[in-house]
Amino acid sequence: MDFDLTEEQRMFRDSLRKFLDAEVRSLDERWGDLEMTAERAKPLLKMLIPWGYVGSEGILAGGSDPIIRCVQSEELSATFPGLAGMSGITSGSVSLIAANAHPDLAERLVAPLSQGDLIGCIATTEPEAGSDPSGIRSRAERKGDHWVINGVKSWISNGSVADVAVVLAQTDPAQGPAGFRQFVVERQKSPFESREIPTIGLRSFPTSELFFNDVEVPDTNVLGGWNSERAAPERAFQRTLQMFSHARAGTGMMAVGIARCAYETALEYVQIRRQFGKEIIRHQLVAAMIADMATEIDAARLLCHRAYLALQRGRADVEASMAKWYATEAAVKVASTAIQCMGANGLATENRVERCLRDSRMLTMPDGTTQIQKLIISRALTGRSAIR
Ligand SMILES: Cc1cc2nc3c(=O)[nH]c(=O)nc-3n(C[C@H](O)[C@H](O)[C@H](O)COP(=O)(O)OP(=O)(O)OC[C@H]3O[C@@H](n4cnc5c(N)ncnc54)[C@H](O)[C@@H]3O)c2cc1C
Repeated sequence: MDFDLTEEQRMFRDSLRKFLDAEVRSLDERWGDLEMTAERAKPLLKMLIPWGYVGSEGILAGGSDPIIRCVQSEELSATFPGLAGMSGITSGSVSLIAANAHPDLAERLVAPLSQGDLIGCIATTEPEAGSDPSGIRSRAERKGDHWVINGVKSWISNGSVADVAVVLAQTDPAQGPAGFRQFVVERQKSPFESREIPTIGLRSFPTSELFFNDVEVPDTNVLGGWNSERAAPERAFQRTLQMFSHARAGTGMMAVGIARCAYETALEYVQIRRQFGKEIIRHQLVAAMIADMATEIDAARLLCHRAYLALQRGRADVEASMAKWYATEAAVKVASTAIQCMGANGLATENRVERCLRDSRMLTMPDGTTQIQKLIISRALTGRSAIR
C-alpha cells in the first residue's frame, strides 16, 4: 500500500497550487468572507473549469482518478473554501441530472451547469427535517402533465444563487419515503424565492432558505425512470442517502484544505515570532501544538483518500462517515490550535486563521452531523441502530 502521491498526481498538485496562488488567492482575500452573488460566482467557477472542477465528471459520476479529486478539493479549499463548496455542490447537482434526468432535460442543463453558466443546488433539508430527512413535508401534487410544488427548504448550499434546484418532495404521504420524488426546478421557468441565512463562516458559500409556492414543473423534470429501471423515480430517497455518502467524503476533503491553511499560517508564524530570547517553535509546548496539527491533518487526509477510493468501487458508507466526522472535527481543532500558536495575533481578523476556525465550524453539520455519522458507523458495525 502506497500512501504517497504518484509522480503524476504530484505534478498535477504542484501546477494547480501555482495557478491557485497566482490567480485565486487574491480573489479569496477580496471576496471569500463576503456574501456571494450569482454575477460574481459564475466567472469564478468558470476560471476553475480548465482544472477539472464543476463538471459532471465529479465524484458522483466516478470521476477519473479519485486521488486527483481529493487533491483538487484540498488545494481549492486551502485557497478559497467558499468556491470549493460552490463548485462541489454544482458538480453534485449536475451529476444527479446527468445520470437520472429525461434526455431532453439533461441535454438542456448538463452543459451549462458543467461550464459555470448555471449554478445548481440540492434541496433536501427543511425547517422540521434536518438529521431525519424522512420527515420532509414539501408536497408535490400532480396536475395533468405537470407537478405543483409547495414547501420550504432550509440550509441549502448555493440556494440563493442557484439557477437549478434538485428538490426532494413528497408526492404521496401514505407511502412515506417511498412517495418521495426528486424534481429539477429551473428557476427561470418555474420561479421560487430564496433568502440567504447569515452564518459564522463560509460566507461566500451561501446557505439559504428556498420557498416554493405553487411552483409548477413539467412531468419530464422528475428525476429517474428515463434511462434505467435501477434509477426509478421511486428510488428518490435511496438516491438522496447514497448521494450523502459522496458528499461526506467531499466535505471531509474540504475540511482538510481549511485545516491545512490554518496549520501553514501558524507554522510560518512560530518560526519567526520570538519570545524568551528564541523563536517560539523552540519552546516545547509550541512544538507539540505543531505536531498535533500535522498529525490530525494527515489522519484526516488519509481517511478521506480511503473514502474516495472506496466510493469509486461502490458503496462505502462507513468509510465516508468516518472520513467526514473525523476530518471536520479535526479541522475545528486544528484551526483553534493554530490561533493558540499565534497568540493574540491569531484572533485578528486581518490574519487568516480566525476565518479558518469560522469556516471549519460550518462543516460538522452538513451531510449529517458528527453525531449522525457516528450512529451510521456503529449501526454498520453492530447491526443495531441507535438512530431512532
Ligand atoms: C454549511 C451547511 C451546508 C448545508 N448544505 C445543505 C444542502 O446543500 N442541502 C440540504 O438539503 N441541506 C444542507 N444542509 C443542512 C444539513 O444537512 C443539516 O443541517 C443537517 O442534516 C443537520 O440538521 P439540523 O441542522 O436540522 O440539526 P438537527 O437534526 O436539529 O440536530 C440538532 C442536534 O441534535 C443531534 N441529533 C439529531 N438527531 C439525533 C440522533 N438520532 N441521535 C443523536 N443526536 C441527534 C444532532 O447531531 C445535532 O447536534 C447544510 C447545512 C450546513 C450547516
